[in-house]
Amino acid sequence: MTPYDDMAPQGRTPLIDGFGRTVSYLRLSVTDRCDLRCVYCMAEHMTFLPKAEVLSLEELDRVASAFVDLGTKKIRLTGGEPLMRKGMLDLVRRLARHLGTGALEELTLSTNGTRLREFSGQLAEAGVRRVNVSMDTLKPDLFRRLTRGGDLAKVQDGVAAAQQAGLSVKINAVALKGDNAAELPDLIAWAHGRGCDITLIETMPMGEIEADRTDQYLSLKDVRRQLESFWTLEDLPLNTGGPARYVRVAETGGRLGLITPLSHNFCEACNRVRLTCTGALHTCLGQDDETDLRAVIRAGATDAELAVAIRAAIAGKPKGHDFEIARARPAVARHMSTTGG
Ligand code: SAM
Ligand code: SF4
Repeated sequence: MTPYDDMAPQGRTPLIDGFGRTVSYLRLSVTDRCDLRCVYCMAEHMTFLPKAEVLSLEELDRVASAFVDLGTKKIRLTGGEPLMRKGMLDLVRRLARHLGTGALEELTLSTNGTRLREFSGQLAEAGVRRVNVSMDTLKPDLFRRLTRGGDLAKVQDGVAAAQQAGLSVKINAVALKGDNAAELPDLIAWAHGRGCDITLIETMPMGEIEADRTDQYLSLKDVRRQLESFWTLEDLPLNTGGPARYVRVAETGGRLGLITPLSHNFCEACNRVRLTCTGALHTCLGQDDETDLRAVIRAGATDAELAVAIRAAIAGKPKGHDFEIARARPAVARHMSTTGG
């Protein structure tokens, strides 16, 4: 045995940014396309990317696997709508090999749920254990309006299908003043009644949309105060390195997450970065920094050169975002569907 045998291979040394934060979580957007057009996420008429600009399944696998080599423990596939990407299950199966080796601890997915009936069984077989499903309301008409045409029954059936396949489901709901504000307790009770955690999200100023975000924005501080007028919320010490703070609702027994990028900033413990489907690496959701990893791999970079490019990007991860809802323009020009929420 040489003195070097018990050292981690060069590639496996963790990714640490300039502020000492270890980056161990990759959100990978596999498409900018979606079958829905949520009013806070997309404009009604979006121009989607030409195919040549989007990373192939092999390229997505290569870059994600490079992250796993550099200590990434968790990958969340997102979009756009990830289940709209052709060959999505292939990608899931490829990435799942890292679960098999133990290098990756978790492979999850954020979805709008419309295709979960079709895919849940195969996702579970491939090694996915949990999915996040976005659902902002229990009212079919409001759902249709918020998503510009979506069918709530299909999403709820998708949640049931995922649970039947053994996946644990977390519901994500964006809190929207005037739309679902009054209904949030019902939505929470619905999720908890089915054994699902639920997380509420404040709207973030990302990308131009038709609606005025100051009209949409609802502070979760106010929501929490309202919930506490009839429920007992017990703070949970759970820290996922993510933006959510968790409470247990004593009356339902379920867990509730609150993502408050505006009313409470969460950057100091941020452990995540995002890769768009075009290979742009964003080390902060709320800043315009980006590193073009597609250019790196399409120029023929070796794995070692790709690792150097990733490390350099992580070293420059900004300290935090400066979202502010009342600004005339979005904090970042790209939509959430481009960056991958
Ligand atoms: N299509 C999938 C879905 O809806 O779950 C995955 C992508 S979507 C961009 C991921 C999450 O971002 C969803 O929960 C959505 O509600 C949220 N989201 C989109 N735009 C947002 C915004 N401007 N502010 C806050 N959350 C947003
Ligand atoms: Fe599509 Fe998800 Fe954006 Fe809604 S939030 S438009 S489902 S990508």
